[in-house]
Amino acid sequence: MNSSNGQNHSNENQLVPNSVFDSSATYRMALTQLETVAAFLNLDKGILQRLSIPKRAMVVSVPVRMDDGSTKVFNGYRVQHSLTSGPSKGGLRYHHSVDLGEVAALSMWMSWKCGIMNLPFGGAKGGIACDPEKLSLGEKERLTRRFTEEVLSIIGPRMDVMAPDLGTDEQTMAWIMDTYSMKVGYACPEIVTGKPIELGGCLGRREATGRGVTYCIVEALKELNISPIEATAVVQGFGNVGAVTCTELHNLGVKIIAVADRYGAIHNPKGINIPLLQDFVQKGNLLKDFPDCETISAEDLLTLECTVLVPAALERVIHVKNATKLKCKILAEAANGPTTPEADAIINQTSIYLIPDILCNAGGVTVSYFEWVQDIQQLLWSEEVVNQKLYELMIKAFRQVRALCIAKKITMRMAALSLGVEKIAREKVKRGLFP
Ligand code: NAD
Repeated sequence: MNSSNGQNHSNENQLVPNSVFDSSATYRMALTQLETVAAFLNLDKGILQRLSIPKRAMVVSVPVRMDDGSTKVFNGYRVQHSLTSGPSKGGLRYHHSVDLGEVAALSMWMSWKCGIMNLPFGGAKGGIACDPEKLSLGEKERLTRRFTEEVLSIIGPRMDVMAPDLGTDEQTMAWIMDTYSMKVGYACPEIVTGKPIELGGCLGRREATGRGVTYCIVEALKELNISPIEATAVVQGFGNVGAVTCTELHNLGVKIIAVADRYGAIHNPKGINIPLLQDFVQKGNLLKDFPDCETISAEDLLTLECTVLVPAALERVIHVKNATKLKCKILAEAANGPTTPEADAIINQTSIYLIPDILCNAGGVTVSYFEWVQDIQQLLWSEEVVNQKLYELMIKAFRQVRALCIAKKITMRMAALSLGVEKIAREKVKRGLFP
C-alpha cells in the first residue's frame, strides 16, 4: 500500500532504531513482525515509520505506603500506540518483568488486534513492575489508585480505556473507575472495561478471552476433521484466560491432559477434572498439589504430545530451543507474543496449525468494546446477546484470516498481521498527516 499524500519522506528501508524502546526483546519482536508485514503489503515507508513508534508513552514513579509503614516506589508505564481509529484500548499488567519496551510491544499488538476485529479503537497497554502476589490487598489498592492519578492526564473514555491483564482483575478496574470518577466528579464506568458487573461491567467479559480462544480452536479442529471428544489439550497458565479456556474446552469434551501455572505443572494422560481443579485452586490450594496427577517441569509441559497446545501465560515461552520439540497439531496463542520470530520460522516448516495471538485472544478486547458501548449508552445486554455477538465477530475474523492465508499462501500470522496493519495504515493515509 503506497500513499500519494506526501507521507513517504524516508529513503530508508529499515526502521529507524528507537533506543527508548529497542532494549526490549519483546519490542524488537513486534518490530520484526511489523517490518515483515510491511514488506508483504508494500507499505508506504512514512506510514511504516509512524506505525513503528508509539504515539505516546508515559513513565511514572508510583510511591506507595506499604503495610509495615515503609514507602516503596514502583515503576509504572502507559503506552498508547495509536489513536487513529478512536480511543486507545488495552490492558494494565502487574508483573515483575514489565518494562517500557514490553508495554510498547503489547500496545502495538493491541492496535493490530483491534484492526482485525474492526473495532473503533487504537492499541494501548500499561503496566507496573511489581509482584502482585507479594502485595496485600491494601497495598494493591494504593498502588492502583496512585498510578491512576499519575496517568490521569492521558486517560479518558474518549482517549484511553484500560482493562485487566496479567496480574490485574475486576477489582483493579473498580479502583481505577472509582479514582477517575472522584477526579471528574461523576460516576464514569466507561473509563475502564472488565470491571465488576455491579459497576457497569459486561456480562461475559471475564470469560470472553477464553471463549474466543475456544471458538478459534473449534474452527481449526473442524478443518482438521478432529472431533472435540477425540482431542487432547495442554494449557500453560491457569488465570483468567487459561482457566476459562480449560473450562470451555472441557465442556466440549476435549480432554485436558496437562495444566501449569507459575508454581508448577501437572499431567494426567487420562484427563484432568477441570471443575474440581477450579474448585481446588479457588479454595487457595496450589495447582501443583492437585491429586491424581504427576508433576512435570514447565518445559516438559510445552512439548507433550497433544492435539492443542495453549500458551496462556507469558510471552516468548516458545523459542528456538523448544520449537523443534513441539508435538501439538494446533498451537492456539492465547497469551500475547508467546512465540519468538525464530521459533515462528521453525513452526512454519511444520504442519502445526498456528492460531496467532492477535486473532486467538481478541475475544477480550471485543467484549471490552461491547462493555464500553453499553456504558456510554447506559444499556445492559444479556449474556446470551454478548456471547452471540462475540461468536459472530470471532468467526468472521477467523474466516477472513484463514481465507487470506489460503489465497495468498502465507502463514496465519502473516495473514492476521496484514489485515490488522493494513486497516490502520489505510486510516492513517485517509486522515493524512497533521499539520
Ligand atoms: P492472569 O494473571 O489471570 O493469569 C496468568 C496465569 O499464568 C496464572 O495462572 C499464572 O500463575 C500463570 N503463569 C505466570 N507465569 C507463569 C510461568 N512462568 N509458567 C506457567 N504459568 C505461569 O492473566 P491473564 O489475564 O489470564 O493473561 C494471560 C495472558 O493472556 C497474557 O499474555 C495476557 O496478556 C493475555 N491476554 C489476556 C486477556 C484478558 O482478557 N485477560 C486478553 C487478551 C490477552
